[in-house]
Amino acid sequence: MTDSSPRKLIIAIDGPAGAGKSTIASRLARKLGYVNLESGAMYRALALRAIEWDASFDDEAALLKLAEDSSITLDRTIGGNRVLVNKKDVSARIRERDVSEAASRVSVHPKVREWMVARQREMGIGGGVVMEGRDIGTKVFPDADLKIFLDADPVIREQRRLDQQRVKGAPAEAMAAELRERDHRDRTRAASPLVAAEDAVVLDSTHLSEDEVLERIEKLVEQRLAARR
Ligand code: C5P
Repeated sequence: MTDSSPRKLIIAIDGPAGAGKSTIASRLARKLGYVNLESGAMYRALALRAIEWDASFDDEAALLKLAEDSSITLDRTIGGNRVLVNKKDVSARIRERDVSEAASRVSVHPKVREWMVARQREMGIGGGVVMEGRDIGTKVFPDADLKIFLDADPVIREQRRLDQQRVKGAPAEAMAAELRERDHRDRTRAASPLVAAEDAVVLDSTHLSEDEVLERIEKLVEQRLAARR
Protein backbone atom coordinates (compact mmCIF):
# COMPACT_ATOMS: atom_id res chain seq x y z
CA MET A 1 0.00 0.00 0.00
CA THR A 2 1.33 3.43 -0.83
CA ASP A 3 1.17 6.25 1.67
CA SER A 4 -1.15 8.93 0.26
CA SER A 5 -0.68 11.37 3.14
CA PRO A 6 1.23 14.44 1.99
CA ARG A 7 4.71 15.11 3.33
CA LYS A 8 4.64 17.50 6.22
CA LEU A 9 5.48 21.03 5.22
CA ILE A 10 8.31 23.36 6.11
CA ILE A 11 6.73 26.71 6.98
CA ALA A 12 8.91 29.80 7.35
CA ILE A 13 7.67 32.88 9.20
CA ASP A 14 9.93 35.92 9.08
CA GLY A 15 9.49 39.50 10.09
CA PRO A 16 10.56 42.25 12.47
CA ALA A 17 10.22 42.20 16.27
CA GLY A 18 6.71 42.76 17.56
CA ALA A 19 4.94 41.67 14.37
CA GLY A 20 3.44 38.69 16.23
CA LYS A 21 5.58 35.90 14.75
CA SER A 22 6.10 33.88 17.94
CA THR A 23 2.46 33.69 18.95
CA ILE A 24 1.31 32.92 15.44
CA ALA A 25 4.03 30.33 14.83
CA SER A 26 3.26 28.62 18.09
CA ARG A 27 -0.52 28.55 17.53
CA LEU A 28 -0.12 27.39 13.94
CA ALA A 29 2.27 24.60 14.91
CA ARG A 30 -0.12 23.41 17.60
CA LYS A 31 -3.05 23.34 15.18
CA LEU A 32 -1.12 21.41 12.56
CA GLY A 33 0.60 19.11 15.01
CA TYR A 34 3.93 20.51 13.83
CA VAL A 35 7.01 21.57 15.76
CA ASN A 36 7.54 25.26 16.37
CA LEU A 37 11.15 26.46 16.33
CA GLU A 38 12.11 29.99 17.38
CA SER A 39 15.42 30.62 15.67
CA GLY A 40 15.82 33.92 17.54
CA ALA A 41 16.07 31.97 20.79
CA MET A 42 19.34 30.47 19.53
CA TYR A 43 20.86 33.89 18.88
CA ARG A 44 19.60 34.93 22.30
CA ALA A 45 21.19 31.87 23.90
CA LEU A 46 24.54 32.69 22.31
CA ALA A 47 24.18 36.32 23.39
CA LEU A 48 23.63 35.17 26.96
CA ARG A 49 26.79 33.05 26.80
CA ALA A 50 28.70 36.09 25.54
CA ILE A 51 27.39 38.17 28.45
CA GLU A 52 28.29 35.47 30.96
CA TRP A 53 31.77 35.00 29.50
CA ASP A 54 32.32 38.72 29.07
CA ALA A 55 33.04 38.19 25.35
CA SER A 56 32.93 41.18 23.05
CA PHE A 57 29.83 41.26 20.83
CA ASP A 58 32.15 42.44 18.05
CA ASP A 59 34.59 39.51 18.28
CA GLU A 60 33.35 37.13 15.59
CA ALA A 61 35.96 34.41 16.23
CA ALA A 62 35.33 34.38 19.98
CA LEU A 63 31.57 34.24 19.45
CA LEU A 64 31.86 31.39 16.98
CA LYS A 65 34.03 29.44 19.43
CA LEU A 66 31.50 30.11 22.17
CA ALA A 67 28.71 28.80 19.92
CA GLU A 68 30.71 25.69 18.99
CA ASP A 69 31.49 24.98 22.63
CA SER A 70 27.90 25.41 23.82
CA SER A 71 25.05 23.01 23.61
CA ILE A 72 21.98 25.05 22.66
CA THR A 73 18.73 23.10 22.65
CA LEU A 74 15.23 24.22 21.74
CA ASP A 75 12.84 22.01 23.64
CA ARG A 76 9.38 22.02 22.10
CA THR A 77 6.66 22.73 24.62
CA ILE A 78 3.09 23.82 24.16
CA GLY A 79 3.15 27.57 23.65
CA GLY A 80 6.80 28.05 22.71
CA ASN A 81 10.29 26.73 23.13
CA ARG A 82 12.06 25.90 26.34
CA VAL A 83 15.63 26.95 25.75
CA LEU A 84 18.49 25.03 27.30
CA VAL A 85 22.13 26.06 27.24
CA ASN A 86 24.41 23.30 28.45
CA LYS A 87 21.29 21.71 29.94
CA LYS A 88 20.41 24.83 31.98
CA ASP A 89 16.96 26.31 31.38
CA VAL A 90 17.48 29.93 30.27
CA SER A 91 14.03 30.43 28.71
CA ALA A 92 13.10 33.42 30.87
CA ARG A 93 16.55 34.98 31.12
CA ILE A 94 17.04 35.20 27.35
CA ARG A 95 13.92 37.38 26.99
CA GLU A 96 15.38 40.16 29.11
CA ARG A 97 16.35 43.46 27.56
CA ASP A 98 20.13 43.15 27.79
CA VAL A 99 19.96 39.82 25.96
CA SER A 100 17.63 41.21 23.27
CA GLU A 101 20.13 43.93 22.54
CA ALA A 102 23.10 41.54 22.63
CA ALA A 103 21.33 39.02 20.35
CA SER A 104 20.91 41.61 17.64
CA ARG A 105 24.61 42.42 17.91
CA VAL A 106 26.01 38.88 17.86
CA SER A 107 23.76 38.01 14.92
CA VAL A 108 25.48 40.41 12.51
CA HIS A 109 28.53 38.13 12.11
CA PRO A 110 28.51 35.92 8.98
CA LYS A 111 30.36 33.00 10.63
CA VAL A 112 27.99 33.00 13.59
CA ARG A 113 25.07 33.01 11.17
CA GLU A 114 26.52 30.12 9.15
CA TRP A 115 26.80 28.05 12.31
CA MET A 116 23.23 28.89 13.35
CA VAL A 117 21.80 28.22 9.88
CA ALA A 118 23.43 24.77 9.75
CA ARG A 119 21.91 23.83 13.14
CA GLN A 120 18.52 25.21 12.14
CA ARG A 121 18.51 23.21 8.90
CA GLU A 122 19.26 20.02 10.81
CA MET A 123 16.33 20.71 13.10
CA GLY A 124 13.78 21.42 10.38
CA ILE A 125 14.85 19.37 7.39
CA GLY A 126 12.37 16.54 8.00
CA GLY A 127 9.39 18.88 7.66
CA GLY A 128 6.43 19.27 9.98
CA VAL A 129 7.97 22.46 11.25
CA VAL A 130 7.03 26.10 11.65
CA MET A 131 10.29 27.99 12.00
CA GLU A 132 10.29 31.69 12.74
CA GLY A 133 13.01 34.29 12.54
CA ARG A 134 14.53 36.83 10.17
CA ASP A 135 16.20 34.74 7.45
CA ILE A 136 14.25 31.48 7.41
CA GLY A 137 12.70 32.00 3.98
CA THR A 138 15.80 33.59 2.49
CA LYS A 139 18.66 31.51 3.94
CA VAL A 140 17.69 28.65 6.23
CA PHE A 141 14.97 27.15 4.03
CA PRO A 142 14.98 28.96 0.67
CA ASP A 143 12.84 26.07 -0.63
CA ALA A 144 10.32 26.18 2.21
CA ASP A 145 6.82 25.06 1.19
CA LEU A 146 5.27 28.24 2.55
CA LYS A 147 6.95 31.52 3.39
CA ILE A 148 5.19 34.22 5.35
CA PHE A 149 6.62 37.66 5.96
CA LEU A 150 4.68 39.03 8.90
CA ASP A 151 4.90 42.78 9.26
CA ALA A 152 3.06 45.56 11.11
CA ASP A 153 3.25 49.29 11.51
CA PRO A 154 6.23 50.20 13.76
CA VAL A 155 4.02 52.08 16.23
CA ILE A 156 1.79 49.03 16.64
CA ARG A 157 4.78 46.73 17.03
CA GLU A 158 6.22 48.97 19.72
CA GLN A 159 2.88 49.03 21.49
CA ARG A 160 2.57 45.23 21.41
CA ARG A 161 6.06 44.77 22.80
CA LEU A 162 5.32 47.27 25.52
CA ASP A 163 2.11 45.47 26.47
CA GLN A 164 4.08 42.23 26.76
CA GLN A 165 6.72 43.85 28.95
CA ARG A 166 4.51 46.17 31.00
CA VAL A 167 4.27 43.75 33.87
CA LYS A 168 8.02 43.96 34.18
CA GLY A 169 7.78 47.74 34.46
CA ALA A 170 10.00 48.53 31.50
CA PRO A 171 10.18 52.24 30.63
CA ALA A 172 8.15 52.87 27.47
CA GLU A 173 10.44 55.31 25.69
CA ALA A 174 13.60 53.29 26.24
CA MET A 175 11.90 50.12 25.06
CA ALA A 176 10.58 51.73 21.90
CA ALA A 177 14.02 53.14 21.11
CA GLU A 178 15.63 49.73 21.63
CA LEU A 179 13.14 48.05 19.33
CA ARG A 180 13.78 50.64 16.62
CA GLU A 181 17.53 50.21 16.95
CA ARG A 182 17.29 46.41 16.82
CA ASP A 183 15.05 46.64 13.78
CA HIS A 184 17.43 48.97 12.02
CA ARG A 185 20.38 46.68 12.75
CA ASP A 186 18.49 43.59 11.52
CA ARG A 187 17.46 45.31 8.28
CA THR A 188 20.76 46.93 7.43
CA ARG A 189 23.38 44.32 8.38
CA ALA A 190 25.45 42.99 5.49
CA ALA A 191 24.90 39.27 6.26
CA SER A 192 21.34 38.06 5.68
CA PRO A 193 19.50 41.28 6.43
CA LEU A 194 15.83 41.11 7.29
CA VAL A 195 13.98 41.16 3.95
CA ALA A 196 10.96 39.34 2.62
CA ALA A 197 11.90 36.47 0.31
CA GLU A 198 10.76 37.11 -3.26
CA ASP A 199 8.22 34.31 -3.03
CA ALA A 200 7.01 35.14 0.48
CA VAL A 201 3.40 36.06 1.18
CA VAL A 202 3.56 39.41 2.93
CA LEU A 203 0.96 39.77 5.67
CA ASP A 204 0.50 43.12 7.37
CA SER A 205 -1.01 42.47 10.78
CA THR A 206 -1.49 46.16 11.69
CA HIS A 207 -5.28 45.96 11.37
CA LEU A 208 -5.71 42.23 11.85
CA SER A 209 -6.42 40.30 15.01
CA GLU A 210 -4.27 37.30 15.89
CA ASP A 211 -7.15 35.01 14.90
CA GLU A 212 -7.46 36.69 11.51
CA VAL A 213 -3.74 36.34 10.80
CA LEU A 214 -3.90 32.70 11.78
CA GLU A 215 -6.93 32.06 9.57
CA ARG A 216 -5.18 33.55 6.55
CA ILE A 217 -2.08 31.45 7.09
CA GLU A 218 -4.15 28.32 7.61
CA LYS A 219 -5.81 28.89 4.23
CA LEU A 220 -2.40 29.15 2.60
CA VAL A 221 -1.31 25.95 4.33
CA GLU A 222 -4.44 24.20 3.02
CA GLN A 223 -3.62 25.34 -0.52
CA ARG A 224 -0.06 24.06 -0.26
CA LEU A 225 -1.20 20.72 1.11
CA ALA A 226 -3.91 20.39 -1.55
CA ALA A 227 -1.35 21.03 -4.28
CA ARG A 228 0.61 18.02 -3.05
CA ARG A 229 -2.27 15.55 -3.04
O1 C5P B 1 13.16 36.79 17.19
P1 C5P B 1 13.93 37.38 18.34
O2 C5P B 1 13.50 38.75 18.70
O3 C5P B 1 13.97 36.47 19.52
O4 C5P B 1 15.43 37.48 17.81
C1 C5P B 1 16.45 38.11 18.54
C2 C5P B 1 17.47 38.67 17.59
O5 C5P B 1 18.15 37.60 16.94
C3 C5P B 1 16.90 39.52 16.45
O6 C5P B 1 16.81 40.88 16.81
C4 C5P B 1 17.90 39.31 15.34
O7 C5P B 1 18.96 40.21 15.43
C5 C5P B 1 18.43 37.92 15.59
N1 C5P B 1 17.87 36.92 14.70
C6 C5P B 1 18.45 36.76 13.45
N2 C5P B 1 18.02 35.78 12.63
C7 C5P B 1 17.02 34.96 12.98
C8 C5P B 1 16.39 35.13 14.24
C9 C5P B 1 16.84 36.14 15.06
O8 C5P B 1 19.35 37.50 13.09
N3 C5P B 1 16.64 33.99 12.15
